[in-house]
Amino acid sequence: MNHTLFDRILTYNEITNIKDNSMSDQEFYTFSEYMRKEQETLSPSAEDYMEMIYRLSKDQGFTRVNDLAGALNVQPPSVTKMIQKLSEMKLIKYEKYGVIIMEQEGKALGKALLYRHNLIEEFLKLLNIKEGLLTETEKIEHTINDETLLGIKALVEFFHDNPNVMNNWSQYRGINHID
Ligand code: CA
Repeated sequence: MNHTLFDRILTYNEITNIKDNSMSDQEFYTFSEYMRKEQETLSPSAEDYMEMIYRLSKDQGFTRVNDLAGALNVQPPSVTKMIQKLSEMKLIKYEKYGVIIMEQEGKALGKALLYRHNLIEEFLKLLNIKEGLLTETEKIEHTINDETLLGIKALVEFFHDNPNVMNNWSQYRGINHID
Protein backbone atom coordinates (compact mmCIF):
# COMPACT_ATOMS: atom_id res chain seq x y z
CA MET A 1 0.00 0.00 0.00
CA ASN A 2 1.72 3.16 -1.19
CA HIS A 3 -0.92 5.68 -0.33
CA THR A 4 -1.33 7.04 3.15
CA LEU A 5 -4.75 8.15 4.21
CA PHE A 6 -3.56 11.73 4.25
CA ASP A 7 -2.38 11.35 0.72
CA ARG A 8 -5.78 10.12 -0.35
CA ILE A 9 -7.83 12.88 1.18
CA LEU A 10 -8.58 15.52 -1.38
CA THR A 11 -7.82 19.00 -0.33
CA TYR A 12 -10.03 21.92 -1.02
CA ASN A 13 -7.32 23.40 -3.22
CA GLU A 14 -7.31 20.50 -5.58
CA ILE A 15 -10.80 21.28 -6.66
CA THR A 16 -10.58 25.05 -6.81
CA ASN A 17 -8.76 25.40 -10.09
CA ILE A 18 -11.92 24.56 -11.99
CA LYS A 19 -13.32 27.84 -10.70
CA ASP A 20 -10.50 29.85 -12.29
CA ASN A 21 -11.69 28.48 -15.53
CA SER A 22 -15.36 28.54 -14.74
CA MET A 23 -18.18 29.17 -17.15
CA SER A 24 -21.55 30.77 -16.58
CA ASP A 25 -24.54 28.61 -17.41
CA GLN A 26 -25.20 30.77 -20.44
CA GLU A 27 -21.67 30.26 -21.66
CA PHE A 28 -22.06 26.59 -20.99
CA TYR A 29 -25.19 26.33 -23.13
CA THR A 30 -23.51 28.22 -25.93
CA PHE A 31 -20.69 25.76 -25.56
CA SER A 32 -23.04 22.74 -25.67
CA GLU A 33 -24.70 23.98 -28.80
CA TYR A 34 -21.34 24.57 -30.26
CA MET A 35 -20.09 21.12 -29.41
CA ARG A 36 -23.18 19.52 -30.88
CA LYS A 37 -22.60 21.34 -34.13
CA GLU A 38 -18.89 20.54 -34.18
CA GLN A 39 -19.23 16.92 -33.18
CA GLU A 40 -20.41 16.05 -36.65
CA THR A 41 -17.32 17.54 -38.22
CA LEU A 42 -14.48 17.31 -35.72
CA SER A 43 -12.68 14.04 -35.07
CA PRO A 44 -11.33 13.32 -31.58
CA SER A 45 -7.88 14.02 -32.94
CA ALA A 46 -8.97 17.40 -34.34
CA GLU A 47 -10.47 18.19 -30.93
CA ASP A 48 -7.16 17.37 -29.27
CA TYR A 49 -5.39 19.71 -31.66
CA MET A 50 -7.81 22.57 -31.05
CA GLU A 51 -7.57 22.11 -27.29
CA MET A 52 -3.77 22.11 -27.41
CA ILE A 53 -3.53 25.07 -29.78
CA TYR A 54 -5.74 26.99 -27.37
CA ARG A 55 -3.58 26.02 -24.39
CA LEU A 56 -0.38 27.01 -26.15
CA SER A 57 -1.58 30.29 -27.63
CA LYS A 58 -3.67 31.46 -24.67
CA ASP A 59 -1.00 33.83 -23.38
CA GLN A 60 0.91 35.07 -26.40
CA GLY A 61 -1.90 34.84 -28.97
CA PHE A 62 -0.22 32.32 -31.27
CA THR A 63 1.73 29.09 -31.32
CA ARG A 64 4.05 27.32 -33.76
CA VAL A 65 3.93 24.00 -35.59
CA ASN A 66 7.03 22.75 -33.77
CA ASP A 67 5.70 23.65 -30.34
CA LEU A 68 2.42 21.99 -31.15
CA ALA A 69 4.18 18.87 -32.42
CA GLY A 70 6.20 18.71 -29.21
CA ALA A 71 3.18 19.21 -26.97
CA LEU A 72 1.14 16.56 -28.79
CA ASN A 73 4.12 14.27 -29.16
CA VAL A 74 3.67 13.85 -32.91
CA GLN A 75 5.88 14.56 -35.92
CA PRO A 76 5.70 18.04 -37.51
CA PRO A 77 4.49 16.66 -40.89
CA SER A 78 1.37 15.18 -39.26
CA VAL A 79 0.80 18.49 -37.53
CA THR A 80 1.03 20.33 -40.83
CA LYS A 81 -1.59 18.03 -42.33
CA MET A 82 -4.09 18.59 -39.55
CA ILE A 83 -3.33 22.31 -39.47
CA GLN A 84 -4.29 22.53 -43.12
CA LYS A 85 -7.57 20.78 -42.40
CA LEU A 86 -8.35 23.07 -39.47
CA SER A 87 -7.54 26.16 -41.47
CA GLU A 88 -9.86 25.01 -44.26
CA MET A 89 -12.54 24.82 -41.57
CA LYS A 90 -11.71 28.44 -40.69
CA LEU A 91 -10.82 27.54 -37.12
CA ILE A 92 -7.22 28.70 -37.36
CA LYS A 93 -4.94 30.65 -39.64
CA TYR A 94 -1.69 29.16 -40.80
CA GLU A 95 0.89 31.89 -41.28
CA LYS A 96 4.48 32.07 -42.39
CA TYR A 97 7.24 30.39 -40.37
CA GLY A 98 4.89 27.81 -38.94
CA VAL A 99 2.91 30.32 -36.93
CA ILE A 100 -0.62 29.26 -35.98
CA ILE A 101 -3.24 31.83 -35.00
CA MET A 102 -6.75 30.95 -33.86
CA GLU A 103 -9.77 32.43 -35.61
CA GLN A 104 -12.55 33.77 -33.35
CA GLU A 105 -14.57 30.61 -33.78
CA GLY A 106 -11.54 28.43 -33.17
CA LYS A 107 -10.76 30.32 -30.00
CA ALA A 108 -14.28 29.79 -28.66
CA LEU A 109 -14.05 26.13 -29.52
CA GLY A 110 -10.60 25.75 -27.97
CA LYS A 111 -11.77 27.41 -24.77
CA ALA A 112 -14.77 25.08 -24.59
CA LEU A 113 -12.61 22.02 -25.21
CA LEU A 114 -10.15 23.00 -22.51
CA TYR A 115 -13.00 23.68 -20.12
CA ARG A 116 -14.48 20.26 -20.82
CA HIS A 117 -11.10 18.64 -20.25
CA ASN A 118 -10.57 20.47 -16.93
CA LEU A 119 -14.06 19.67 -15.73
CA ILE A 120 -13.68 15.93 -16.39
CA GLU A 121 -10.24 15.97 -14.79
CA GLU A 122 -11.61 17.65 -11.65
CA PHE A 123 -14.41 15.10 -11.51
CA LEU A 124 -11.97 12.20 -11.71
CA LYS A 125 -9.86 13.81 -8.98
CA LEU A 126 -12.97 13.82 -6.82
CA LEU A 127 -13.09 10.07 -7.33
CA ASN A 128 -9.46 10.00 -6.24
CA ILE A 129 -8.25 8.72 -9.59
CA LYS A 130 -4.51 9.18 -9.73
CA GLU A 131 -2.57 6.94 -12.07
CA GLY A 132 -5.02 6.90 -14.91
CA LEU A 133 -6.09 10.51 -14.47
CA LEU A 134 -4.87 11.96 -17.74
CA THR A 135 -5.51 8.92 -19.92
CA GLU A 136 -9.03 8.57 -18.60
CA THR A 137 -9.73 12.26 -19.10
CA GLU A 138 -8.46 12.04 -22.67
CA LYS A 139 -10.77 9.11 -23.40
CA ILE A 140 -13.90 10.38 -21.68
CA GLU A 141 -13.78 13.90 -23.10
CA HIS A 142 -14.46 12.75 -26.66
CA THR A 143 -17.49 10.63 -25.91
CA ILE A 144 -19.34 12.42 -23.12
CA ASN A 145 -22.66 14.09 -23.96
CA ASP A 146 -24.02 17.46 -22.76
CA GLU A 147 -26.38 16.02 -20.21
CA THR A 148 -23.66 14.07 -18.44
CA LEU A 149 -21.22 16.94 -18.65
CA LEU A 150 -23.78 19.30 -17.18
CA GLY A 151 -24.36 16.86 -14.31
CA ILE A 152 -20.63 16.69 -13.67
CA LYS A 153 -20.37 20.47 -13.78
CA ALA A 154 -23.07 20.77 -11.12
CA LEU A 155 -21.47 18.13 -8.93
CA VAL A 156 -17.98 19.61 -9.11
CA GLU A 157 -19.36 23.07 -8.32
CA PHE A 158 -21.44 21.69 -5.48
CA PHE A 159 -18.35 20.22 -3.85
CA HIS A 160 -16.46 23.42 -4.46
CA ASP A 161 -19.19 25.49 -2.83
CA ASN A 162 -19.51 23.13 0.14
CA PRO A 163 -16.05 22.43 1.56
CA ASN A 164 -17.50 20.58 4.55
CA VAL A 165 -19.29 18.13 2.27
CA MET A 166 -16.09 17.83 0.32
CA ASN A 167 -14.20 16.95 3.49
CA ASN A 168 -16.76 14.33 4.47
CA TRP A 169 -16.61 12.80 1.05
CA SER A 170 -12.81 12.75 0.97
CA GLN A 171 -12.62 11.02 4.31
CA TYR A 172 -15.31 8.54 3.33
CA ARG A 173 -13.56 7.82 0.06
CA GLY A 174 -10.20 7.47 1.80
CA ILE A 175 -11.32 5.35 4.75
CA ASN A 176 -13.86 3.06 3.12
CA HIS A 177 -12.44 2.60 -0.29
CA ILE A 178 -8.71 2.12 -0.09
CA ASP A 179 -7.94 -0.17 -2.95
CA1 CA B 1 -7.72 16.83 -23.63
